[in-house]
Amino acid sequence: MKIRRIFAHRVELPLGEGSYKWSGGKSVTVFDSTVVGVETDEGLVGYGEVCPLGPFYLPAYAAGVRAGLQELGPHLIGMDPRDINVLNERMDAALKGHPYVKSGIDIACWDLLGRITGLPVCTLLGGRFGEQVRLYRAISQESPEEMSRKVQGYKAEGYTRFQLKVGGDPDVDIERIHAVRAMLGPGDRLVADANTGWTQHEAVRVVRAVRDLDVYIEQPCQTYEECLAVRRQTDHAFILDENIDSLQMLLRARGDLAMDAVNLKISKLGGLTRTRQLRDLCVSMGIAMTLEDSWGGDITTAAISHLAHSTPEEFRFTSTDFNSYVTVSNAVGAPQRVDGFMKASAAPGLGIEPRFEVLGDVLVDIH
Ligand code: MG
Repeated sequence: MKIRRIFAHRVELPLGEGSYKWSGGKSVTVFDSTVVGVETDEGLVGYGEVCPLGPFYLPAYAAGVRAGLQELGPHLIGMDPRDINVLNERMDAALKGHPYVKSGIDIACWDLLGRITGLPVCTLLGGRFGEQVRLYRAISQESPEEMSRKVQGYKAEGYTRFQLKVGGDPDVDIERIHAVRAMLGPGDRLVADANTGWTQHEAVRVVRAVRDLDVYIEQPCQTYEECLAVRRQTDHAFILDENIDSLQMLLRARGDLAMDAVNLKISKLGGLTRTRQLRDLCVSMGIAMTLEDSWGGDITTAAISHLAHSTPEEFRFTSTDFNSYVTVSNAVGAPQRVDGFMKASAAPGLGIEPRFEVLGDVLVDIH
């Protein structure tokens, strides 16, 4: 079996709430997502999706996904898509870095492997743990009152995990955290995610001001060293995200006891293959994980569901259902949230089929 064609469509995913805002005044109103197809010489096609959180979150941008596929694709034509580690080695040899470019191809090859074997991707990734996957809701950065109002609404929809987008003015962030925690119960979990937005002294002030609250602190500052300094000055449970962009960084952070949980994003690490490697290591090291991606629609949500559902429940901190944040559905068969939970499909592969009627023109076509 050989890869005969690699292609990609662009699809716009507008936000249901109108916009999504996080640290430093960054915001997105319409996500630019890329749906990647890998087609075999037998006519089977597997799909993946890559959707950066705008061009200013991680070193990734939407047009870069497509440009990277143009660069990488010709190196992969003729390879067996079932040999996923061999394929990843080839991708790394052909293009240094740019893990987000590789992610869509890697996910599509897992989808293909599932379609070929008749197995869901979660089975291929190790098996299904438990009945369902608990979800969190990211709360866009607004006034403390507005964020409280949104949390109340999403709580009524069944969510019990909330991630507040802070990393703005530290005094307002302190108000945001207090206001939202006050309306949550003991079974609810709250994460204050600064997305690198605070300087070290600001972060130290915030963690002191919320010392008595039950809240996790996620990625307060830009650099690993700043985060580590803040970590050493707080007794809050601590999560690293943006800094954990490789196996080497995970091991370094573990060595420093720099976090209690980590956020693994599929495209940040280069696909399901690399994310599974870090996921399995985290399980062995006893570190719980938020398993997700930078953003995406139905295909990304399906990939997240398989990754999360194949992770032991006690190490699943949270995941999220990006397809419920956006107003365009780019595939049928993706998981749909029920009372704050989702399930990986039992169908072969990711269990999705793209809705070609909503996808734009083919922008990448390599054969
Ligand atoms: Mg985060």
